Formats: sequence, structure tokens, C-alpha cells
Amino acid sequence: MSEAIDWARVRADFPLLTREVHGRPLIYLDSANTGQKPAAVIEAVDDFYRRHNANVSRAVHALGSEATEAYEGARRKLAAFLNVHANDLVLCSGTTFALNLVAYSWALPRLKAGDAILLTRMEHHANIVPWQIVAQRTGAVIRVAEIDERGELDLERLFAQMTPDVKLLAFTHVSNVLGTVNPAREICREARRRGIVTVVDGSQAAPHRALDVAGLGCDFYAITGHKMAGPTGTGALWARREHLEAMPPFLGGGEMIREVRFEGTVYNDPPHRFEAGTPNIAGFVGLGAAVDYLSGIGMAAIEAREKELLAHATAALSQVEGLRILGDAREKAAVISFLVEGAHAHDLATLLDLEGVAVRSGHHCAHPLMQHYGVPATCRASFAFYNTVEEIDRFVEALQKVRRLLA
Ligand code: PLP
Repeated sequence: MSEAIDWARVRADFPLLTREVHGRPLIYLDSANTGQKPAAVIEAVDDFYRRHNANVSRAVHALGSEATEAYEGARRKLAAFLNVHANDLVLCSGTTFALNLVAYSWALPRLKAGDAILLTRMEHHANIVPWQIVAQRTGAVIRVAEIDERGELDLERLFAQMTPDVKLLAFTHVSNVLGTVNPAREICREARRRGIVTVVDGSQAAPHRALDVAGLGCDFYAITGHKMAGPTGTGALWARREHLEAMPPFLGGGEMIREVRFEGTVYNDPPHRFEAGTPNIAGFVGLGAAVDYLSGIGMAAIEAREKELLAHATAALSQVEGLRILGDAREKAAVISFLVEGAHAHDLATLLDLEGVAVRSGHHCAHPLMQHYGVPATCRASFAFYNTVEEIDRFVEALQKVRRLLA
């Protein structure tokens, strides 16, 4: 499948990947943090501002109609990409906003003392802190599903933790630190059987695999555009229609109303009820172009390509003395977190940067996971379909050199 695609040509679509850093060719291994953008996305944003710029839904003039059509067109493209109805897709600034929307509009009015919210050890702070705020305000408690030695969720324990007081389960589809792909369909099915509402953080899944969000059986699914070749400040929340209909607005303002009187306001229907104010129109035009771009390659081909890169990188890194990879889930995305004996993650990343290699070091917005492993930080190399086997080899060579320097 992936053989049929000329990946060198695909890579050439990304202008930034030709630049140098510290006098060396850039090797960008931080796509889990944010993805690089193909020219098609950059040009779509540029073209919007050059030729179509106007606000959405407010003007009847030609530009206003064009901008509205472009914005709504992006919603339709994204909906098709996720296999959901466009009317059930709230456009927002990203996963952080999407999860907070569920927390404030769905959970806050419903949860109470005696209820529990179930999270997992491998959540990003964006899928922890909003629930802590809900817990503090409602008296609900937070419980945590733990992981095993492979960095996989212990499913038996997770299902046992789905007790009648659990009202909501929030979990990541793919871990941004371990790369673990969680069996979302199975988890949602078990939760649904017990009447537990599920919130899935799809930030790290949408860029790497074909998604059938409607078929997952979840209640809410959040994605972020900047990790899937789109502009920053774009993302979406999909929710079951019955939830959207029942949820009060999170933010008030223009666009989200049908009629405003000082005596009271009639809100717009979802999804617009949750899109107060002028949205990131150009950003969504770019995200629409990103979806076209990814679909043009094919998500199955992207997944297969990234699997090859992951396998190559895992084998190459395991040759590095004193290196330990965190997480070897059976189903894993192209993310490798590692530690090198005797070297601090930040020192490694700083010296790798001087070699032109961009990896992330730190806690990856996953403090509880770092606490589990008893480390303050890891190095993380994350790969996308535009990376190459040669880049991985050069990265591992650079790592060998850096390790010797730090020894
Ligand atoms: N959830 C996960 C798993 C992530 O990796 C990230 C980004 O790093 C987020 C949430 C936050 O997403 P956003 O950048 O849209 O706020």
C-alpha cells in the first residue's frame, strides 16, 4: 500500500522541511507536538486573505457569502473525514477548548457529590484539569484507570472501575507520550452498557489513522487541527445530537443567538450555539485544505508509512546503549518517549537541536504519567509520514554522539 506512494514527492509538499537549523538540515521529529503544513494549506490560508476575506454569517455581500461558504465547507469536509454529520460538529480552537466545552456545558450542570469521573493515567493535562474543575465545583470525585508495564490500559481493571457512581469516562484515543492506541470502541461499548458517558481525546489519533467517530460509540470526540497538517487555533468537538441539543452555551455573544432581547435571549441551534464570536475563518479554510490533502494521500497509507518508520526507529534506538523506551504497546502510533542513562532529557534535546534534530523534552503535559514512571521528563521523538528512514538514521547517529558527550 505505502509502496505505491512516492513519499519523497509527498515530503516535497512541506516547504519548511527544506530549511536548515544551526547550519544542518532540519530533522523534524516533533509532529506529536505540532505537525508541519503542506503548501496546499499555506496557500489556502493565503488565498482566503487575498481574495475572499470577510466575516461569516453576517453579510449578504459576495465576500460574506464566499467566506461563509468556505467556513461551512470546511465543516463539511472535516465531518466527512471523521464520518459524522456536519451539524453535530462544533468548530473551535482545538482539543483544549473542546474538552472544556464538554466540562462546562455538559458535566458542570449534571454532576453532583457522590458522582465519579474516571480518567486514565496517560491523559494530557487538557483531559485532566477541566475535570478537576468540574469535580471541585460539583463535589464529584476523580478516579484513575492505571496502565501496565507495556503502557497499555489494564482493561479488566478499567471495566471493574466502571461502577454505578461513574457518570463520565474521559480517555485519550492515542497517548501523546507512549503512543499507545487505546481500544476506544471496546471501552466505549463497555461504558455505554453501564450508562457512562464517554469523552474521547482524539488529538493524536486524527493525524495518523482513518477515523470512524460515529462508529466508535462514544458520546464526545475532540480533535485539534494543528496536529493534522492544519493551522493552529482550529479544532472540533463532535457530540451526539441529544447532548448538543440539551447543552447550554459555554460562551455567549454574536453568532450563537437567534434573537436577543434585554428580557432574554433565544439561542441558535447546535453547532452554532457553541460558536460565539468571529471564528478562525482562515484557519478553518486551511484545515479544510489539510483534510483534502490527507485524504488525497489516504489515511490507510499514512498509517502504514508511519508504522514502517516506527518499526525502523524502535529497532535503531534499541541499539543505543543505556537507552530505555517508555511504552511498547501492541498497537502503537509513531511516538517514542525515551530516557538515556546519565543524561537529562533537556540536555539531550538541546544538544540534538545543535545537530539539527528537533525532538521534544519535558513532561509533555502529562505530569501524572511522569509521576508513574518516577521521572521529571523524557525525550520524545514523534514521526509523521513526511519523515524518512534516512532522517531516523541520522537522528540515531546524532544521539550516539550526544550521549558520548554527556557521558
Ligand atoms: N490532548 C492530547 C493527547 C495532546 O497531545 C494535546 C496537544 O499536545 C492536547 C490534548 C491539546 O490540544 P490543543 O493543542 O488543541 O490544545
